[in-house]
Amino acid sequence: MGSGMTMNPRSQDRSALEQEQFLKILSREDALARFEAALFPRTIPSEARKLADALGAALAEDVTAPIDVPPFDRSNVDGFAVRSADVVAAGEGAPVRLALNGETIHCGTAPTLQVAAGSATAIATGGPLPRGADAVVMVEHTQPAGSDAIEVRRATSPGQFVSYAGSDIARGEALLRVGTIIGSREIGMLAACGIAEVNVARKPRVAVISTGDELVQPGRPLTPAAIYDTNGAIVAAAIDENGGEAIFLGAIPDDEAKLEAAMRNALADADMLVLSGGTSKGTGDLSHRIIGRLGQPGIIAHGVALKPGKPLCLAVCDGKPVVILPGFPTSAMFTFHDTIVPVLRRMAGLPPRSDAKVNATVPVRIASELGRTEFVMVSLVEGRGRDGLIAYPSGKGSGAITSFAQADGFLRIDALADQMPAGTEAEVTLFTPHVRVPDLVIVGSHCTGLDLVTAQLAHAGLTVRSIAVGSLGGLAAARRGECDLAPIHLFDDRSEAYNTPYLVEGLELVPGWRRMQGIVFRKGDKRFEGLGAKDAVAAALADRACIMVNRNQGAGTRILIDRLLGGARPEGYWNQPRSHNAVAAAVAQHRADWGMTIAPVAHAVGLGFIPLAEEHYDFALVTARKDRPAVRAFLDALASNEARAALERAGFRPA
Ligand code: AMP
Ligand code: MG
Repeated sequence: MGSGMTMNPRSQDRSALEQEQFLKILSREDALARFEAALFPRTIPSEARKLADALGAALAEDVTAPIDVPPFDRSNVDGFAVRSADVVAAGEGAPVRLALNGETIHCGTAPTLQVAAGSATAIATGGPLPRGADAVVMVEHTQPAGSDAIEVRRATSPGQFVSYAGSDIARGEALLRVGTIIGSREIGMLAACGIAEVNVARKPRVAVISTGDELVQPGRPLTPAAIYDTNGAIVAAAIDENGGEAIFLGAIPDDEAKLEAAMRNALADADMLVLSGGTSKGTGDLSHRIIGRLGQPGIIAHGVALKPGKPLCLAVCDGKPVVILPGFPTSAMFTFHDTIVPVLRRMAGLPPRSDAKVNATVPVRIASELGRTEFVMVSLVEGRGRDGLIAYPSGKGSGAITSFAQADGFLRIDALADQMPAGTEAEVTLFTPHVRVPDLVIVGSHCTGLDLVTAQLAHAGLTVRSIAVGSLGGLAAARRGECDLAPIHLFDDRSEAYNTPYLVEGLELVPGWRRMQGIVFRKGDKRFEGLGAKDAVAAALADRACIMVNRNQGAGTRILIDRLLGGARPEGYWNQPRSHNAVAAAVAQHRADWGMTIAPVAHAVGLGFIPLAEEHYDFALVTARKDRPAVRAFLDALASNEARAALERAGFRPA
């Protein structure tokens, strides 16, 4: 235990408590309450900091003003120090003549002569008032009368244009309170009092360890089956954002001895330890067992009714918090913010976080697991509702990282609810201090070509939000007036036409581009090389060792595949990923031998490609929004030579 810490005695029997934790998933509130009870109250260590280094730190004690500010009675204007009784009756028609004393008081000059009755002393703004004077007359309200006198033409009362000593800050006054975050204004107040150094809460040193055999640090080449360590970077940054000092110790393999050594090392040096990964069932016992050996009381909660974030593990080892965050980055981020940030900020002497919140209408139903507090990331767009906002759930599951960039904030679904019905007015906690409603909202099917067009808008300072919900979801959003444009690629079997048959009143078609769909295979595969699409599929079906990769039901590509297969169900048919890129990855990585994707994706991965049919990727434009500047900018960009050339280079064919 660190020196100076006071711990709350825990009344419960430790081993009974531990057993209970293994058996029981705690509610978020229970888990937090137990965690905080094991950590607080405690003494917050402090350190002296030079003013220049104190920005952002929290004051560890009240600061009392050591001097008066201003330190003397000071003139607020350029003019003359006078005795107000001499000029109380002065006016335009009744000027009063005063003899000038033989000195001028500049800033930084201490007066030497007394202002006697009938006299005045020239004084500059900021100059100390001389003995005898009790007011200042502005130079504009006087006139020279010869070389050694003035005439005052304005009545003057006592105290006029004088700031009295201590009127700004009085000696002995509480200047700043403990816990105040030092910003430029606070630094100014401290400097005005001549304070060069303050006692601030020492930043808690937080060791960060990622766990997993599969982790590679960014900057290194990715090996097969490996992924980049994302949590290390997220957690370290979030610690720094919330008043801690992160010490990132890298990724440790799933090896008990190595992990224990790393954890002991970390705790010897740090005030807190945050790990990620290895808490799910099966592997979970590893870090568990180690924590039990690191100090008392050990694990406080393992398993919290949070989504994402159920496998969260909270422990205290000899006064130091030890946390194991779930492995999925989104889960790690939410659990960190929800349960670790409050504790970290308290340890850092900071007040609780005050995130901005807004109300927004949720346009679609969000299913939720009963019994778990659920966090859902949302993108905000303009719309109806109390705050005029609509919140689109933007999560792609707890493994997705892009939702961070797309999301403006998150909403919470209570543990007792099994859904949030469409139309709910929900409270959204913002990731940023203010709502940033985008200039252009695109909701529908995503295509990499879209970025090539919107790049121009971004360069022109317009913000574009594109929310991928598929073609049909986009059309629904457009009908509800929640977006400007809905990109769609929907084939109508009856009319054998793309997109136009799906438009309803209020929507009009803006032609986008064509995407060539075709068979992908690894270059050099003799089964496909040089064949047409139909022959290639026939060859694949003839070889029982040949594995395909399909697409999900509802995808335009899937319709083409099923037509080509004509009822055949070769091996791999049930592997049905949801993106063009996943198909290419499966073939490139030898998990499948062929599939169907679009030409730009096949070429980007260096795969062989047999063209089959062109798909039309167009935009359903909400006619009522046609004249918005951002919509016009988009239409201009779409028609520009620049965008058309970029689309062609990427393998698309502009309409
Ligand atoms: P685990 O809890 O260790 O089983 O991890 C659950 C999932 O999160 C796995 O897919 C891991 O590969 C992934 N994961 C764990 N740690 C990290 C990390 N530091 N960065 C990115 N993904 C991770
Ligand atoms: Mg792991």
